[in-house]
Amino acid sequence: MRVGVLGAGQLGRMLALAGSPLGLHFVFGDPAVDAPARLLADHLVGEYDDQNLQHQLAQRSDLVTYEIENVPAAALYHLAEHRPVFPTPQALRLMQDRLKEKSLCARLGIPVPPFRKVDAAGDLQAAAVDLGLPLMLKTRYAGYDGRGQRCIEAQAGLSGAFTELGGRLLIAEPLVPFAREVSLIAVRGRDGAFAAYALVENHHESGMLRWSRPLASAGAAALQATAERHARRIMEHLDYVGVMTIEYFQTEQGIFVNEIAPRVHNSGHWTIEGAATSQFENHLRAGLGWPLGDTATRGATVMVNLIGAVPELPRLLAIPGVHVHLYGKEARPRRKVGHVTLVSDTVTELAERTLRLADVLGITLPAPSLEEDPVRVAVTGQ
Ligand code: AMP
Repeated sequence: MRVGVLGAGQLGRMLALAGSPLGLHFVFGDPAVDAPARLLADHLVGEYDDQNLQHQLAQRSDLVTYEIENVPAAALYHLAEHRPVFPTPQALRLMQDRLKEKSLCARLGIPVPPFRKVDAAGDLQAAAVDLGLPLMLKTRYAGYDGRGQRCIEAQAGLSGAFTELGGRLLIAEPLVPFAREVSLIAVRGRDGAFAAYALVENHHESGMLRWSRPLASAGAAALQATAERHARRIMEHLDYVGVMTIEYFQTEQGIFVNEIAPRVHNSGHWTIEGAATSQFENHLRAGLGWPLGDTATRGATVMVNLIGAVPELPRLLAIPGVHVHLYGKEARPRRKVGHVTLVSDTVTELAERTLRLADVLGITLPAPSLEEDPVRVAVTGQ
């Protein structure tokens, strides 16, 4: 089988790495000549809305998926006339727009922070009155890694923020005082089969994901059940096929959806070594109508992004239990150039390895707590 992928970034590259052992062939379409997936598969260089690129991609694949959200939905609708596309172009179009996405959650009874549509400066003034300050102002479309958003602390900052982001459709929401951010990676097959990975805790720096680790404490079970209920509800509503990621803010009042991505996600990279079947393999299995793989967590694990620079490889590789993924991207500030996953049998061992990794990277990383020892939980059966 031949899988066409719009976007040839690191997510595409990891899809190809997961699908190759299953005998799948990949062809990517992406405007960047130096895209990370280029060395692993055929790479068609062209703009996403170029009909010639779409035609060639359709010709050379049996089914099509995408690895970024900022592809024009029209390109996927066009491709869907010739080949099955998963997740559907309808799902992509909805999730490209923060307003539509949050409105759907609200309609389905899934908690989201209050939000207001902002098309004009007056809407922002009204939102500040309704929601209070501080306020987050975000572009509805094409925001990622913290780009396209401003935090407004005081009344005086309203017009400046609107001008900076102006000209685009916007959404305003309160600054949520979250205790932490968590995300759920779920997958739905063509036959409606559903599976989900352990909820992960995510830590961002300057709007970019720095590290993720699965919640393994017995106390997370109720949270996990709630998030899985949300995912099922959204996926069934959209007749969704493939991997979907829900990002949440966790507060004392519970979890609130921040964003949903119709694709494999950075907060699921740990599943490559830390789960029985990776998010990438499960995305492909879902699209192909194959049985979904086991999503169980294997051991204690943490995933750390390499941002802006690649450290000396031998120093990284000297850490026991380390898995290094470099994306073949030129290092630049604020650019994800790779990631590292640590997997250990015990939390104590993971703590030692995490300290070594933090030292090599020159950053602070969380010490896994004994409360979250997956081995202990398994033994006591809690
Ligand atoms: P987003 O592009 O919506 O995923 O936002 C990127 C990051 O900015 C999030 O992961 C949060 O850390 C932060 N952020 C976004 N919206 C809010 C909000 N309403 N309240 C607090 N922090 C936010």
